[in-house]
Amino acid sequence: MMSSLLFNLTLLVTLHYGLAQSYRSWPVTRSGLGYWARLALFSGTSILLMQVPTRLADGVFVDTRTVPLAFVTLMYGPVAGLAVTLPVIAYRLWVGGNGVLAAIPSLMGVLLIATLLRRTLLRHPGSWLPWPWIPVVFCLQGVSLLLLPNGRQLFEQAYPTLLLVNTIGAVIGWGILRDRFATLRLTRDWRAAAVTDALTGLANRRQFDEDVRLLEPGDVLMLIDLDHFKRVNDTFGHQVGDEVLREVASRLTAEGRGRDRAYRYGGEEFAMIFRSVPEGAIPNVAERLRSAVSARVMPATQARVTVSVGAVAFSGVSVPTLLARADTALYAAKEAGRDQVRIWKEVSDEVVPVQEEDSARPDLLGGSPS
Ligand code: GH3
Ligand code: MG
Ligand code: MG
Repeated sequence: MMSSLLFNLTLLVTLHYGLAQSYRSWPVTRSGLGYWARLALFSGTSILLMQVPTRLADGVFVDTRTVPLAFVTLMYGPVAGLAVTLPVIAYRLWVGGNGVLAAIPSLMGVLLIATLLRRTLLRHPGSWLPWPWIPVVFCLQGVSLLLLPNGRQLFEQAYPTLLLVNTIGAVIGWGILRDRFATLRLTRDWRAAAVTDALTGLANRRQFDEDVRLLEPGDVLMLIDLDHFKRVNDTFGHQVGDEVLREVASRLTAEGRGRDRAYRYGGEEFAMIFRSVPEGAIPNVAERLRSAVSARVMPATQARVTVSVGAVAFSGVSVPTLLARADTALYAAKEAGRDQVRIWKEVSDEVVPVQEEDSARPDLLGGSPS
């Protein structure tokens, strides 16, 4: 009996590996077609485990079929648990035999305990399932053998082994699923961390580099550099400087709408991508951005911090060209005295280089109201 249950156990582990592969992202979906498809997979796993049972007596079989059903009940709740169990009950009725009388109470007993333990187990810190509780989940399985003729003997023969094999199956099978969840959760967290600036919470340079490649005509890139920020650090200290950077980030974010996005581009330099801005509106948007930062004092210093803004509308040029233009506009704003906006302008079909004085630059338009 032990050897055939061990074979069942091997199949269980293999099938749980397959179930784990069906989870592709975190958090796990709990609605829709994918959810029901997954429940069907768990039902199917249970039915497959019934294909290699241990035969106790005529029409009486034992196997590890309840392991996937208990997992669904613990993870998704009793309604889902019942939903995956009903096809298993239907299959067991179809197989027939004396054991049906014991099989159905056995399944329901496991569901009942999994439901009762669910809240306690999910609340347990660290792991969603403390291993010592696992045998408790399966303790009612096989008790219903006592209902059968010669039940006491069948019970004594099967119960301890069944409890042991189910427990080992759950430790390994659920362990495989739990490890998969941990991997998916970490992947999600690290992927988010890889594109997030740790200080400000804004999208970082890596995300910017990805997004800037996907700009469409009509989108506008603005580079925003804090003016004389070194003085803030020198006067108030680096930590207060960090506070100011966070506040600037939040003021910039508040200026974005829809798919607009703010980035921390470098130390005290930010970038913003605005989507579908009519050309005539660019000076207003840039000016709004400038004054959003500088109009009010910073809570951390009780002083104003100003920014220089260089803006450029995307017109299908390469990324390096676009960045060079935004940079040129930004430095023009710096040279013009800071706390200013400058916009790179393509005049007719001609791209005018920016080298001369501001007044002689048809390509750089002052955005600040005069
Ligand atoms: P300008 O108006 O020409 O841009 O002058 P600036 O002082 O802002 O520019 P500069 O490049 O001379 O100095 C940038 C400063 O930004 C110096 C650096 O310590 C500070 N900085 C860069 N990253 C951080 C940061 O993460 N936290 C803090 N507190 N300061 C930073
Ligand atoms: Mg600066
Ligand atoms: Mg700078």
